[in-house]
Amino acid sequence: MRLKDKVVLITGSGSGIGRSAALLFAKEGASVIVNDLDSSKGNETFEEIRTFGGQSRFIQADVTHQESAQNLIRQAIAEFGRVDVLFNNAGISGVGAIHEVEPEVWDRVVSVNIRGVFLPCKYVLPSMMERRSGVIINMSSCVAEIGLARRASYAATKGAVLALTKSMQVDYAPYNIRINALLPGTIMTPFVEDYLKSSYDDPEAAFESIKKRQLSGELGRPEDVAHAALFLASDESRFIMGAPLYIDGGVTFGKNA
Ligand code: NAP
Repeated sequence: MRLKDKVVLITGSGSGIGRSAALLFAKEGASVIVNDLDSSKGNETFEEIRTFGGQSRFIQADVTHQESAQNLIRQAIAEFGRVDVLFNNAGISGVGAIHEVEPEVWDRVVSVNIRGVFLPCKYVLPSMMERRSGVIINMSSCVAEIGLARRASYAATKGAVLALTKSMQVDYAPYNIRINALLPGTIMTPFVEDYLKSSYDDPEAAFESIKKRQLSGELGRPEDVAHAALFLASDESRFIMGAPLYIDGGVTFGKNA
């Protein structure tokens, strides 16, 4: 019960890492507000939490849309009284080198991955500041630190999220609000399955080559990231501020021959 009595909001928790974190956090005693763009996926996470008696609620919202994001926070606070932990997890992939990326695709990746972090933070922070308490976890990626082929838009946004996290931490430390970033490597989720299928002629061969890139020799699982998020959400990480936490099978700092 590491999150007993905490109210946690996880964006994009109808799938992948967000869903895994929603289930884990609920098992650890949190009331979990599940958010997603897609109501059927969000409701699946919500129902799964209900099956083991966890506290939850699904709120559909588009985190890139100002009114929608504002309503998400408003509804969460109206129903649960506060948000103790905001986990900005929603994100989309962007494939291609700069000369290959269409401007509309660039704008969408920037919007979901950066504006989709900015808006929930903007609307939740006044209540956290008033209570002088809160935790924000922002989803970056190890591509914020390492160069990877044909990931221009995605890398730019995840680098921005890491920089934003550090800057936000300075502004909100006086209010006893902790803000940290997660930097996963390649984690097997629908996001990566789609990326493999859409970007490679031979997804199986691509999968094998990505596995070799990790010092672990295998891809991460959503639960690996969910456990890291649990640590950052809990009071166990009270002295960790504005920091990147790597969950990457050694990809960022190691090098496979
Ligand atoms: P996922 O399975 O695709 O889950 C992402 C969820 O976010 C989806 O349910 C998606 O809904 C939702 N979403 C997208 N746009 C949204 C919006 N505007 N408003 C609300 N929800 C929205 O992906 P994942 O692999 O779990 O990734 C989660 C996060 O981890 C992302 O930020 C990703 O960049 C990051 N990450 C993933 C990896 C990896 O290898 N998997 C590595 C590093 C970082 P729809 O499906 O309806 O769009």
